[in-house]
Amino acid sequence: MIAHYGYQDAEGEFFITIDTDRCARCDGKPCVAACPRGVFTVEEDPYGETVVAVDDRRRKRLKYECAGCKPAGDRPPLPCVRACPWGAMTHSW
Ligand code: SF4
Ligand code: SF4
Repeated sequence: MIAHYGYQDAEGEFFITIDTDRCARCDGKPCVAACPRGVFTVEEDPYGETVVAVDDRRRKRLKYECAGCKPAGDRPPLPCVRACPWGAMTHSW
């Protein structure tokens, strides 16, 4: 399943997209530990697979939660994306 977490406002679209089929096969779920803001949680999906999701409390705050990883100038690789061995995660902004 392709899961989209985030929101749109006057400033833009702020979504994290996760291919949870890949998460189900991912040992250790390294994106969770890689995120300095604790954006991700591990949960069971409707099919009984263990996958990663964006924490409920952070879904409407992603622009702010991720600001430290996204400086206005040169942007280094995002810790969460870099940690993912399956290329399962993308950010819209
Ligand atoms: S590291 Fe990638 S594949 Fe593994 S749980 Fe996180 S997003 Fe899913
Ligand atoms: S960009 Fe940074 S704060 Fe945002 S989810 Fe990825 S690691 Fe976490």
